[in-house]
Amino acid sequence: MFGPPGAGKGTYASMLASRLRIAQISTGDIIREEIKRNTDLGKKIVDFVNKGELVPDDIVVEIVREETNKISGKNGFILDGYPRTIEQAKALDCIEKIDAIIQLGVPEQVIIARLSSRRICMKCGAVYNIRYLKPRKEGVCDACGRDLYQREDDRPEVVRERLKVYEAQTRPLISYYRDKAEFINIECNSVDIPPETIIRRILHELQEKDLIE
Ligand SMILES: [Zn+2]
Repeated sequence: MFGPPGAGKGTYASMLASRLRIAQISTGDIIREEIKRNTDLGKKIVDFVNKGELVPDDIVVEIVREETNKISGKNGFILDGYPRTIEQAKALDCIEKIDAIIQLGVPEQVIIARLSSRRICMKCGAVYNIRYLKPRKEGVCDACGRDLYQREDDRPEVVRERLKVYEAQTRPLISYYRDKAEFINIECNSVDIPPETIIRRILHELQEKDLIE
């Protein structure tokens, strides 16, 4: 599943995975989990993450290989947040065949509106949105009463930069997969479309392309 930061990839991927009874492989979640559990792998990657650098391709490929090994022989899987580079896509080709690319098209102003109004509790990490999911008292967490803050990389100017990076990374990948996989384009032109509607559209497209029953 491809989509810009703030498009809701993680949410949709997990809804689709449970609906289709397939596995969800989110490399970002796995990386955070390995670091939290301080595993051998976690120790290897923590420095890259702390410095804000990308985790090297060979390590991420290894993570994906292990995850797909765990589920081989089952119904399949959905990847979100991977591959990000042509090198990763080529490595993935040696592991598994990808049937379909689901691309979430979300206009820049929608992403900026969604991310720039996001607020996070400094203590418990609860996520709010000052437009769509307001706390009961402005600037204060409902759950624990602590202050809410805006993540540095959710500020409009930083979001614009993240979107540029995403565009530059993704465009070559889309051409890479052009002849290798089915394409499903889902346009999300408004922040108010319920996730359930998006999922219905994706399932419909998968059926049309005979990828699911
Ligand atoms: Zn809180």
